[in-house]
Amino acid sequence: MNKGKKLYEGKAKILYEGPEKGTAIQHFKDDATAFNNLKKSTVEGKGVLNNRISEHILSNLNEIGIETHLIKRLNMREQLVRLAEIIPVEFIVRNIATGSLTKKLGIPDGTVLSKPLVEYSYKNDDLGDPLVAREHILEFKWIKDEVELDYINNLCLRVNDFMQGMFRAVGIKLVDFKLEFGKINHDGKSKIILADEISPDTCRLWDVVSEKKLDKDRFRKDLGNIIQAYQEVARRLGIIHEENNISPVKFGKPKAVNLKKK
Ligand code: 5GP
Repeated sequence: MNKGKKLYEGKAKILYEGPEKGTAIQHFKDDATAFNNLKKSTVEGKGVLNNRISEHILSNLNEIGIETHLIKRLNMREQLVRLAEIIPVEFIVRNIATGSLTKKLGIPDGTVLSKPLVEYSYKNDDLGDPLVAREHILEFKWIKDEVELDYINNLCLRVNDFMQGMFRAVGIKLVDFKLEFGKINHDGKSKIILADEISPDTCRLWDVVSEKKLDKDRFRKDLGNIIQAYQEVARRLGIIHEENNISPVKFGKPKAVNLKKK
């Protein structure tokens, strides 16, 4: 499929014009960044795995009636998506306290929350995606009104329910994750859909038994074996098989994975 002009280049993905109006091609890069771009590297094969894992999760969400931007995966690194106008708010859903929540509030790492916590941050790299309140979102009209905000909040909780079950079934705890939503025009009406990606880059995933990290914290915290961890997530979800590696990159056998550090 021919790509149109580049519309946007982010830290881990590039968006190109799609073949038809209202569509785009989302390309997954191997670039990894953390701490608002202060730490940068290339993790060979990450884009391929995130493309597959995100396709798996978003297509499952589409099937249970949560509309996403995904139309179909095109190849190893690209997806055809609906072009949405991204809402400048990141929705963070947390089941277990870790990361910025523990840093900001001094909550002990690993505290299981009594119910999922939804946080909002303003999507702005220059400001470091600051945490904001519902009142900021409504005051600055990042989202139209309370009804729309409640609607998205509810979608976040439904995605969390679904994903918690999906990961738990394969021995993984869904600790937290980030979602982004966008607006599309549907029969003359504006409609909100889930956009961006859901992958080990945007989620925290811990092995149920060992609590080993199977996500981007391996990059953020220099724990090593990043690609093996992402590969392990893909293998457990049934996306890749030991005898059937999915990439032009040699991943090595998942059995040999040795995630020594937590
Ligand atoms: P924290 O606020 O603890 O740093 O992150 C909470 C969760 O949201 C983590 O799963 C993290 O990966 C995800 N997250 C938050 N902001 C971003 C972001 O800008 N990019 C990515 N890839 N993930 C994010």
